[in-house]
Amino acid sequence: IVNFSAGPATLPLEVLQQVQAELLDWNGSGMSVMEMSHRDKEFMSIAQAAEQDLREVMNIPANYKVLFMQGGATAQFSLVPMNLLRGKTGADYIVTGDWGKKAAKVAAQLCTVNIAASSEADKFTGIPEPSSWKLDPNAAYVHITPNETIHGVEFHTEPDTLGVPLVADMSSNILSRPVDVSKYGLIYAGAQKNIGPSGVTIVIVREDLIGETLPKTPALFDYKQVADNDSMLNTPPCFAWYVAGLVFKWIKRQGGLAVIAERNRHKAALLYDYIDGEDFYTNPVRKVDRSRMNVPFTLANPELDGEFLKGAKAAGLSGLKGHRSVGGMRASIYNAMTIEGVQQLVDYMKEFVRTRG
Ligand code: PLP
Repeated sequence: IVNFSAGPATLPLEVLQQVQAELLDWNGSGMSVMEMSHRDKEFMSIAQAAEQDLREVMNIPANYKVLFMQGGATAQFSLVPMNLLRGKTGADYIVTGDWGKKAAKVAAQLCTVNIAASSEADKFTGIPEPSSWKLDPNAAYVHITPNETIHGVEFHTEPDTLGVPLVADMSSNILSRPVDVSKYGLIYAGAQKNIGPSGVTIVIVREDLIGETLPKTPALFDYKQVADNDSMLNTPPCFAWYVAGLVFKWIKRQGGLAVIAERNRHKAALLYDYIDGEDFYTNPVRKVDRSRMNVPFTLANPELDGEFLKGAKAAGLSGLKGHRSVGGMRASIYNAMTIEGVQQLVDYMKEFVRTRG
């Protein structure tokens, strides 16, 4: 099966095979990682290696903490204002899709949210021109969603936030290309696209931004306390953490993020070039803002959607149904998707037009 699901998403086959080989006996320990105490030296070595490898792969500066948390990106929608307001009352949100809209709505329960820019009036088909953003210089932070998973809209460079810390929900494009971490105050991501299985959430945060939370913030939600306890205030998601570590090592073996980015650019170009050259398929997103991870597209005749999906499934292509809020199709082509997999999809799309278009 070639799996185009938006998440949880396909993992590199090599990683799955390694998990299988080590499932019952990790490294001669006689135990599965699932059975190990998180306080024992075996799991500690797994946890530390994962953090080290992520630091290396993303070139994370020493003054940033790396946290392995739970609750998904959704929990971070609340944890970010709980931790980053630092005496301020408001934060700026740039809304370029449903996920950013949700993040802003949740944050509004805890602080004043200023929607500094939104492309909702354009049905989230691009990023508003940065010159039109109404940024507040007193905001505690500026929140963006660098890749909107549902609408297929991606920032390809970091915006200038005039010295206000930039916070990014990178759930669906983390590790897809090199990023300059020093341009961000905080990056968070649920694991289940480019990192590993769901259950672990990565937070990368500049250390001077943490330590002052909203009153009554529970310890488990306080970045500083989590950092001071090596993300082990309580039992961490050990197995997901371990698999994430294998994915970081896989990225290193591929040659790092520059190689991964080139592969992702190639895969996306293959699909967009075909869609743009074929009237039967449409992607509505402004070309410069198109996502390299999630490619939504519609068929000229939506009545054929069911048939398209059925035929795709029969051809071994799964997970192509678009999100219910936008309809049509969506091909998610995260790091583990191969160029051959995307080519198989394009071949199927061509054949569908030939026989049904
Ligand atoms: N943010 C983005 C950009 C996402 O794509 C998703 C899930 O697909 C979420 C947040 C929600 O993540 P979680 O299910 O880990 O809470």
